[in-house]
Amino acid sequence: MKSICVFCGSSMGRNQVYKTEAAAFGNLLAENKITLVYGGGKVGLMGVLADSALASGGKVIGIIPRSIADLEIAHDHLTELHIVEGMQERKAMMMEISDAFVALPGGLGTLDELAEVLTYNQLRIFDKPVGLLNVNGYFDHLLKFFDHGVLERFVREEHRNNIVVSENGTELLEKLRDYEPVHIGKWIEEIKEESSVK
Ligand code: AMP
Repeated sequence: MKSICVFCGSSMGRNQVYKTEAAAFGNLLAENKITLVYGGGKVGLMGVLADSALASGGKVIGIIPRSIADLEIAHDHLTELHIVEGMQERKAMMMEISDAFVALPGGLGTLDELAEVLTYNQLRIFDKPVGLLNVNGYFDHLLKFFDHGVLERFVREEHRNNIVVSENGTELLEKLRDYEPVHIGKWIEEIKEESSVK
């Protein structure tokens, strides 16, 4: 695993622990000689993550749409900063150059990016590990939602279980390294005999 793309908040969050853990994860990537690929901003947890990876001697590649870069929130000191035309181009580049994906706590932008890579795995457009660093139980509700999706037969259990989750960065990296892709179709057959289940 040479590069990991991290999605995370452009805000800091309410609890100091989000900032502390984002910094620790940036540090961990650098120590493991893993290139950080991320959204290229200097704000919020994104900025903390990039700064800590750089301070620990790591390589950091930022990919930012021109419209966001023009707001002067692009990070100025990255190893590489790619300015692209839009959000779709950014995500396409992130997906192409990264070996794995990790979401740290964040908001709607983080959710959008996470949902896209999970969908790509599900459709087998690629097979790359996707993990959640579940700092302070931040993703517990989202994981419950995925479980509900399995129960209600909108999400395949194999796809749900394929999401790598840990509260600890070192353990998360180990699990991402051990990741086995699931070779299963996306579509869930209608189960007639259970159609009355509430
Ligand atoms: P959010 O979780 O809504 O704060 O959005 C963060 C995610 O969306 C990051 O992973 C970025 O790729 C992207 N993003 C949102 N806002 C910014 C920003 N101000 N600068 C750079 N990227 C951003």
